[in-house]
Amino acid sequence: MNYYVLTLFPEMIESGMNTSIIGRAIAGGYLSLETVNIRDYSLTGNGRIDDYPYGGGAGMVMQAEPIYRAYEDLVQRIGKRPRVVYLTPQGRVFDQHMAEELAQEEDLIFLCGHYEGVDERVLEEIVTDHVSIGDYVLTGGELPAMVMMDSIARMVPGVLSNQESGQYESFQDGLLEYPQYSRPEEWRGKQVPPVLLSGHHGNVDRWRRDQSLLRTLKNRPELLERAELDKKDRRYLQSLLDEEGTQQDANGLTAEEEKFLAKLLAI
Ligand code: SAM
Repeated sequence: MNYYVLTLFPEMIESGMNTSIIGRAIAGGYLSLETVNIRDYSLTGNGRIDDYPYGGGAGMVMQAEPIYRAYEDLVQRIGKRPRVVYLTPQGRVFDQHMAEELAQEEDLIFLCGHYEGVDERVLEEIVTDHVSIGDYVLTGGELPAMVMMDSIARMVPGVLSNQESGQYESFQDGLLEYPQYSRPEEWRGKQVPPVLLSGHHGNVDRWRRDQSLLRTLKNRPELLERAELDKKDRRYLQSLLDEEGTQQDANGLTAEEEKFLAKLLAI
Protein backbone atom coordinates (compact mmCIF):
# COMPACT_ATOMS: atom_id res chain seq x y z
CA MET A 1 0.00 0.00 0.00
CA ASN A 2 1.40 3.38 -0.98
CA TYR A 3 0.02 6.40 0.83
CA TYR A 4 0.39 9.94 -0.52
CA VAL A 5 -0.76 12.87 1.58
CA LEU A 6 -1.37 16.39 0.29
CA THR A 7 -1.08 18.57 3.37
CA LEU A 8 0.05 21.90 4.83
CA PHE A 9 1.65 20.06 7.76
CA PRO A 10 3.78 17.19 6.44
CA GLU A 11 5.74 17.01 9.70
CA MET A 12 2.55 16.16 11.58
CA ILE A 13 1.84 13.22 9.27
CA GLU A 14 5.47 12.04 9.23
CA SER A 15 5.86 12.03 12.99
CA GLY A 16 2.49 10.38 13.58
CA MET A 17 2.99 7.66 11.00
CA ASN A 18 6.64 6.82 11.58
CA THR A 19 5.87 5.52 15.06
CA SER A 20 4.99 2.15 16.58
CA ILE A 21 3.44 -0.57 14.38
CA ILE A 22 2.83 1.66 11.35
CA GLY A 23 6.38 3.05 11.56
CA ARG A 24 7.75 -0.48 11.64
CA ALA A 25 5.60 -1.42 8.60
CA ILE A 26 6.95 1.58 6.67
CA ALA A 27 10.54 0.69 7.63
CA GLY A 28 9.86 -2.92 6.60
CA GLY A 29 8.52 -1.91 3.19
CA TYR A 30 4.94 -3.15 3.73
CA LEU A 31 3.69 0.43 3.46
CA SER A 32 5.12 3.54 1.89
CA LEU A 33 4.33 7.12 2.81
CA GLU A 34 5.00 10.29 0.84
CA THR A 35 3.85 13.67 2.04
CA VAL A 36 3.47 16.59 -0.36
CA ASN A 37 3.57 20.09 1.09
CA ILE A 38 0.86 22.10 -0.66
CA ARG A 39 2.70 25.30 0.32
CA ASP A 40 5.48 24.35 -2.11
CA TYR A 41 2.93 24.98 -4.88
CA SER A 42 1.93 28.45 -3.68
CA LEU A 43 1.03 30.85 -6.51
CA THR A 44 2.84 33.74 -4.90
CA GLY A 45 6.03 31.86 -4.07
CA ASN A 46 5.83 32.98 -0.45
CA GLY A 47 3.96 29.92 0.76
CA ARG A 48 0.54 31.51 0.83
CA ILE A 49 -2.16 29.09 -0.28
CA ASP A 50 -5.36 30.58 1.16
CA ASP A 51 -7.59 33.56 0.44
CA TYR A 52 -10.82 35.18 1.57
CA PRO A 53 -14.10 33.42 0.75
CA TYR A 54 -16.23 34.92 -2.01
CA GLY A 55 -19.50 36.08 -0.56
CA GLY A 56 -17.89 37.01 2.73
CA GLY A 57 -17.87 35.17 6.02
CA ALA A 58 -15.30 34.21 8.60
CA GLY A 59 -12.04 32.41 7.94
CA MET A 60 -9.94 31.61 4.92
CA VAL A 61 -10.33 29.08 2.14
CA MET A 62 -7.54 26.95 0.64
CA GLN A 63 -7.17 27.96 -3.01
CA ALA A 64 -7.78 25.52 -5.85
CA GLU A 65 -4.61 26.03 -7.92
CA PRO A 66 -1.89 25.14 -5.36
CA ILE A 67 -3.74 21.92 -4.51
CA TYR A 68 -4.25 21.11 -8.19
CA ARG A 69 -0.57 21.70 -8.94
CA ALA A 70 0.52 19.57 -5.98
CA TYR A 71 -1.80 16.79 -7.15
CA GLU A 72 -0.77 16.97 -10.83
CA ASP A 73 2.91 16.99 -9.94
CA LEU A 74 2.39 13.89 -7.79
CA VAL A 75 0.37 11.89 -10.34
CA GLN A 76 2.83 12.73 -13.13
CA ARG A 77 5.68 11.49 -10.93
CA ILE A 78 4.01 8.20 -9.93
CA GLY A 79 2.47 7.65 -13.38
CA LYS A 80 -1.05 6.79 -12.18
CA ARG A 81 -4.19 8.42 -10.84
CA PRO A 82 -5.18 6.66 -7.62
CA ARG A 83 -8.35 7.36 -5.69
CA VAL A 84 -8.23 10.70 -3.88
CA VAL A 85 -9.81 10.86 -0.43
CA TYR A 86 -10.77 14.33 0.76
CA LEU A 87 -11.15 14.40 4.55
CA THR A 88 -14.25 16.41 5.36
CA PRO A 89 -16.94 16.43 8.05
CA GLN A 90 -19.40 16.44 5.14
CA GLY A 91 -18.26 13.05 3.82
CA ARG A 92 -19.48 9.49 4.28
CA VAL A 93 -18.59 8.35 7.79
CA PHE A 94 -15.54 6.09 7.88
CA ASP A 95 -16.04 2.58 9.25
CA GLN A 96 -14.45 -0.87 9.20
CA HIS A 97 -16.15 -1.81 5.92
CA MET A 98 -14.74 1.24 4.20
CA ALA A 99 -11.31 0.44 5.65
CA GLU A 100 -11.53 -3.09 4.24
CA GLU A 101 -12.61 -1.80 0.85
CA LEU A 102 -9.85 0.84 0.64
CA ALA A 103 -7.24 -1.71 1.76
CA GLN A 104 -7.74 -3.39 -1.65
CA GLU A 105 -6.19 -0.38 -3.40
CA GLU A 106 -2.48 -0.26 -4.22
CA ASP A 107 -2.21 3.51 -3.87
CA LEU A 108 -4.27 6.12 -2.07
CA ILE A 109 -4.01 9.90 -2.05
CA PHE A 110 -5.34 11.84 0.96
CA LEU A 111 -6.14 15.54 0.74
CA CYS A 112 -6.14 17.34 4.10
CA GLY A 113 -8.10 20.57 4.35
CA HIS A 114 -7.54 23.38 6.82
CA TYR A 115 -9.12 26.70 7.83
CA GLU A 116 -12.69 26.95 6.46
CA GLY A 117 -12.02 24.25 3.89
CA VAL A 118 -11.07 23.98 0.23
CA ASP A 119 -12.27 25.76 -2.93
CA GLU A 120 -15.04 23.50 -4.22
CA ARG A 121 -13.78 23.55 -7.81
CA VAL A 122 -10.61 21.60 -7.12
CA LEU A 123 -12.59 19.05 -5.09
CA GLU A 124 -14.84 18.53 -8.13
CA GLU A 125 -11.76 18.12 -10.31
CA ILE A 126 -9.65 15.61 -8.35
CA VAL A 127 -11.53 14.00 -5.44
CA THR A 128 -13.09 10.53 -5.77
CA ASP A 129 -14.14 9.95 -2.12
CA HIS A 130 -15.37 12.44 0.51
CA VAL A 131 -14.81 10.88 3.93
CA SER A 132 -15.55 12.03 7.48
CA ILE A 133 -14.24 10.34 10.62
CA GLY A 134 -17.27 11.38 12.66
CA ASP A 135 -19.86 14.03 13.33
CA TYR A 136 -17.62 16.69 14.85
CA VAL A 137 -15.36 19.34 13.37
CA LEU A 138 -11.57 19.30 13.66
CA THR A 139 -9.11 22.03 12.75
CA GLY A 140 -7.57 20.05 9.89
CA GLY A 141 -7.63 16.84 7.85
CA GLU A 142 -4.29 15.51 9.12
CA LEU A 143 -5.61 13.59 12.15
CA PRO A 144 -8.50 12.11 10.13
CA ALA A 145 -6.06 11.05 7.37
CA MET A 146 -3.87 9.34 9.99
CA VAL A 147 -6.89 7.62 11.52
CA MET A 148 -7.83 6.24 8.10
CA MET A 149 -4.28 5.24 7.14
CA ASP A 150 -3.77 3.44 10.46
CA SER A 151 -6.99 1.49 10.19
CA ILE A 152 -6.51 0.58 6.50
CA ALA A 153 -2.90 -0.45 7.14
CA ARG A 154 -3.95 -3.07 9.70
CA MET A 155 -5.48 -5.00 6.80
CA VAL A 156 -2.41 -4.87 4.59
CA PRO A 157 -0.58 -8.22 4.73
CA GLY A 158 2.64 -8.06 6.77
CA VAL A 159 1.76 -4.90 8.70
CA LEU A 160 0.66 -6.72 11.83
CA SER A 161 2.88 -9.42 13.28
CA ASN A 162 1.24 -12.77 14.03
CA GLN A 163 0.93 -11.82 17.67
CA GLU A 164 -0.80 -8.56 16.85
CA SER A 165 -3.21 -9.80 14.21
CA GLY A 166 -6.10 -10.66 16.46
CA GLN A 167 -8.38 -13.32 15.03
CA TYR A 168 -11.26 -11.33 16.39
CA GLU A 169 -11.62 -7.58 16.60
CA SER A 170 -14.56 -5.29 17.17
CA PHE A 171 -16.72 -4.82 14.04
CA GLN A 172 -15.20 -7.83 12.27
CA ASP A 173 -18.49 -9.72 12.52
CA GLY A 174 -20.65 -6.69 13.20
CA LEU A 175 -20.27 -6.92 17.00
CA LEU A 176 -18.01 -5.28 19.58
CA GLU A 177 -15.21 -7.36 21.02
CA TYR A 178 -15.54 -9.23 24.35
CA PRO A 179 -13.63 -7.98 27.45
CA GLN A 180 -9.96 -8.97 27.74
CA TYR A 181 -7.97 -9.95 30.85
CA SER A 182 -4.31 -10.58 31.55
CA ARG A 183 -2.24 -11.51 34.61
CA PRO A 184 -2.67 -11.46 37.60
CA GLU A 185 -5.73 -13.65 38.18
CA GLU A 186 -6.84 -11.31 40.93
CA TRP A 187 -6.35 -7.54 40.83
CA ARG A 188 -7.59 -5.33 43.66
CA GLY A 189 -10.11 -7.94 44.64
CA LYS A 190 -11.41 -8.36 41.08
CA GLN A 191 -11.18 -11.90 39.69
CA VAL A 192 -10.68 -12.92 36.08
CA PRO A 193 -13.89 -14.71 34.97
CA PRO A 194 -13.33 -18.39 35.93
CA VAL A 195 -14.30 -19.71 32.48
CA LEU A 196 -11.16 -18.09 31.03
CA LEU A 197 -9.00 -20.18 33.37
CA SER A 198 -10.87 -23.41 32.65
CA GLY A 199 -8.87 -24.43 29.58
CA HIS A 200 -12.17 -25.46 27.93
CA HIS A 201 -11.96 -23.79 24.52
CA GLY A 202 -15.60 -24.37 23.62
CA ASN A 203 -16.81 -22.71 26.80
CA VAL A 204 -14.33 -19.85 26.40
CA ASP A 205 -15.55 -19.23 22.84
CA ARG A 206 -19.21 -19.28 23.92
CA TRP A 207 -18.53 -16.94 26.85
CA ARG A 208 -16.69 -14.52 24.57
CA ARG A 209 -19.48 -14.56 22.01
CA ASP A 210 -22.07 -13.94 24.73
CA GLN A 211 -20.02 -11.07 26.15
CA SER A 212 -19.73 -9.59 22.64
CA LEU A 213 -23.49 -9.72 22.29
CA LEU A 214 -24.04 -8.17 25.71
CA ARG A 215 -21.49 -5.42 25.17
CA THR A 216 -22.91 -4.59 21.74
CA LEU A 217 -26.42 -4.48 23.19
CA LYS A 218 -25.28 -2.07 25.88
CA ASN A 219 -22.97 0.20 23.90
CA ARG A 220 -24.03 0.00 20.23
CA PRO A 221 -27.45 -1.71 20.03
CA GLU A 222 -28.02 -0.61 16.44
CA LEU A 223 -25.17 -2.92 15.38
CA LEU A 224 -27.14 -5.93 16.64
CA GLU A 225 -29.88 -5.19 14.10
CA ARG A 226 -27.44 -5.86 11.26
CA ALA A 227 -25.37 -8.64 12.86
CA GLU A 228 -25.81 -12.27 11.84
CA LEU A 229 -27.24 -14.02 14.88
CA ASP A 230 -27.43 -17.80 15.04
CA LYS A 231 -29.67 -19.96 17.23
CA LYS A 232 -27.25 -19.94 20.18
CA ASP A 233 -26.89 -16.16 20.00
CA ARG A 234 -30.64 -15.71 20.07
CA ARG A 235 -30.95 -18.19 22.93
CA TYR A 236 -28.41 -16.21 24.96
CA LEU A 237 -30.14 -12.89 24.23
CA GLN A 238 -33.49 -14.47 25.16
CA SER A 239 -31.95 -15.66 28.45
CA LEU A 240 -31.07 -12.05 29.27
CA LEU A 241 -34.72 -11.15 28.95
CA ASP A 242 -35.87 -14.17 30.95
CA GLU A 243 -33.34 -13.47 33.71
CA GLU A 244 -34.50 -9.94 34.18
CA GLY A 245 -37.69 -10.90 36.01
CA THR A 246 -36.21 -13.59 38.26
CA GLN A 247 -32.62 -12.57 39.00
CA GLN A 248 -32.61 -9.01 40.03
CA ASP A 249 -30.70 -7.05 37.39
CA ALA A 250 -28.45 -10.03 36.63
CA ASN A 251 -27.03 -8.34 33.54
CA GLY A 252 -28.06 -4.85 34.45
CA LEU A 253 -30.34 -4.31 31.45
CA THR A 254 -32.24 -1.06 31.46
CA ALA A 255 -35.91 -0.95 30.55
CA GLU A 256 -34.93 0.55 27.22
CA GLU A 257 -32.45 -2.28 26.50
CA GLU A 258 -35.09 -4.86 27.42
CA LYS A 259 -37.57 -3.23 25.06
CA PHE A 260 -35.00 -3.14 22.26
CA LEU A 261 -34.09 -6.79 22.81
CA ALA A 262 -37.69 -7.96 22.93
CA LYS A 263 -38.31 -6.24 19.59
CA LEU A 264 -35.13 -7.66 18.06
CA LEU A 265 -35.95 -11.21 19.11
CA ALA A 266 -39.54 -10.93 17.87
CA ILE A 267 -38.35 -10.32 14.29
N1 SAM B 1 -16.08 24.55 7.02
C1 SAM B 1 -16.00 23.13 6.95
C2 SAM B 1 -17.39 22.52 7.10
O1 SAM B 1 -18.20 23.08 7.84
O2 SAM B 1 -17.66 21.48 6.51
C3 SAM B 1 -15.10 22.57 8.06
C4 SAM B 1 -13.68 22.92 7.87
S1 SAM B 1 -12.66 22.20 9.11
C5 SAM B 1 -12.53 23.50 10.26
C6 SAM B 1 -11.07 22.19 8.36
C7 SAM B 1 -10.67 20.87 7.73
O3 SAM B 1 -10.57 19.87 8.74
C8 SAM B 1 -11.61 20.30 6.70
O4 SAM B 1 -11.38 20.84 5.44
C9 SAM B 1 -11.28 18.82 6.75
O5 SAM B 1 -10.18 18.49 5.91
C10 SAM B 1 -10.86 18.61 8.20
N2 SAM B 1 -11.91 17.99 9.04
C11 SAM B 1 -12.55 18.59 10.08
N3 SAM B 1 -13.42 17.77 10.66
C12 SAM B 1 -13.33 16.58 10.02
C13 SAM B 1 -13.99 15.33 10.17
N4 SAM B 1 -14.92 15.12 11.08
N5 SAM B 1 -13.63 14.33 9.31
C14 SAM B 1 -12.71 14.52 8.34
N6 SAM B 1 -12.07 15.71 8.16
C15 SAM B 1 -12.36 16.71 8.98
